[in-house]
Amino acid sequence: MLATIRTKMGDTTKSASHETFVGSIDQGTTSTRFLIFNRHGEVIASHQIEFKQFYPHPGWHEHDPLEIISSVEQCIDGAVKDLETQGHASANIKAVGITNQRETTVVWNHETGEPLYRAIVWTDTRTQALIRKLKHRLGSDQLQQLCGLPLSTYPSVGKLLWLLENEPKVKEAYDKGVLAFGTIDAWLVYKLNGGPKKNVFVSDPTNASRTMFMNLKTLDYDESLIDFFRLDQAKIHLPKITRSSDPEAYGRLELSMLKGTPITGCLGDQSAALVGQKGFTPGLAKNTYGTGCFLLYNVGEKPVFSTHGLLGTVAYDFGEGKRMYALEGSIAVAGSSVKFLVDNFGFVESSSKISQLAATVEDNGGCVFVTAFSGLFAPYWIDDARGTIYGITAYTQRGHIARATLEATCFQTKAILDAMEKDSGAKLAELAVDGGMSNSDLTMQTQADLIQIPVRRPQMRETTALGAAIAAGLAVGVWDSIEELKDINVEGSTVFKPQLHEAKSKEMFERWEKAVQMSKGWSS
Ligand code: ADP
Repeated sequence: MLATIRTKMGDTTKSASHETFVGSIDQGTTSTRFLIFNRHGEVIASHQIEFKQFYPHPGWHEHDPLEIISSVEQCIDGAVKDLETQGHASANIKAVGITNQRETTVVWNHETGEPLYRAIVWTDTRTQALIRKLKHRLGSDQLQQLCGLPLSTYPSVGKLLWLLENEPKVKEAYDKGVLAFGTIDAWLVYKLNGGPKKNVFVSDPTNASRTMFMNLKTLDYDESLIDFFRLDQAKIHLPKITRSSDPEAYGRLELSMLKGTPITGCLGDQSAALVGQKGFTPGLAKNTYGTGCFLLYNVGEKPVFSTHGLLGTVAYDFGEGKRMYALEGSIAVAGSSVKFLVDNFGFVESSSKISQLAATVEDNGGCVFVTAFSGLFAPYWIDDARGTIYGITAYTQRGHIARATLEATCFQTKAILDAMEKDSGAKLAELAVDGGMSNSDLTMQTQADLIQIPVRRPQMRETTALGAAIAAGLAVGVWDSIEELKDINVEGSTVFKPQLHEAKSKEMFERWEKAVQMSKGWSS
């Protein structure tokens, strides 16, 4: 059953007007949201639904693709009803943008639109053995120079190869030439347009770059990549890669109360957050603390291929001359570690209470928690590490574990920033943050202390959804240019300045690095 967890109403004193709005579908790992923004980037109405997570075996993580679609439809309807209650006409929503969890892999029958398996979620590690084999294949060391990603369980390709090897229905569809493969954005666009009837089958480069099939320079599929994975392109339907902001390519909604509204923007969630934080200039960076945590650093109009464990990725593609690349540091487990303490151990009743528990102690009491539930991602890329707590003594309280859990994400962010400095040769002046876990003041202060630069948190933290709205709004003239967006969402931000002595910060980080080394090799 779907559980509606929040419906937010805007300012009901506003009178009916001809104000222009943009809708934003934010399809995340644990919940779906639909937000309606005005031209000032303010949220006028929103609706959020949590959907079911499937964990059929240790390391496996799946979603029901049809439940995702119905959650989107319900969220749109919920938010639109609110908008109308406030006296606004839904016809004033000029366009809808999509942002989504990346890498999560959906396969369906191209002729019927029926999913052939549950969506395999980006955190899933079932492909560990398969990836290990691929790493030994001739040419594996060339992949990152083409697509920006190293071989790991994280990108979509391994999930697709696993399905072909293990799911007869998927293999059969492939052999018959009716297998459609897409990331969540492609699946949403296809289904929201009504499925096989219109067959709108597209993906944007920020999503397509997460499959390992796309060449980062050409922003198109690369035959040598597809050949490396021994896939026959004639047998598989891949979505056409189109720019992230486009008035035509993404079609129109067939479902929901917004039937007929054009979809004109599409960005993977982390790119959307960078856009929502207005990271349009090279040298700007944002860090989003959601289920996982993702730091994106705008590197300009040419891709940078990392040599220090980061990913090269597309920041956004708003058309000729408005295409930016990013270096990315991905952390697999962030807010999900907090949820783990809540759901599995009952430490506190909800994630929002974790800081209170952590504040009952002065420090981590000597505990370091390497939250490697799905291995460690950037900059370490240790597939065979698993979650481990070091330094437990008879003195250890739940508060220490809570603190160590929050610190784990901050330590990994520090490691990513160090790698980013080495790759780019530049030092970041300030870090913009957002995402659920950024609500924790204690975590954000810890972050500033560990990276020794200020951390800026905007008042309106739905930056991921705002980014997709910006992509959609730019395509239909709600905003004419990026310059016009500079005053959006700047008021009321909180800045956390480093307070911890640098030497102490360094010492804490060294202990973390020691713990990371010790966590290697647990799951072989
Ligand atoms: P996503 O978009 O990946 O689903 P969100 O940005 O909604 O994620 O963030 C949800 C995550 O943030 C959850 O895993 C939750 O545990 C964590 N979270 C939410 N509020 C807090 C808080 N106040 N302190 C710490 N973690 C939090």
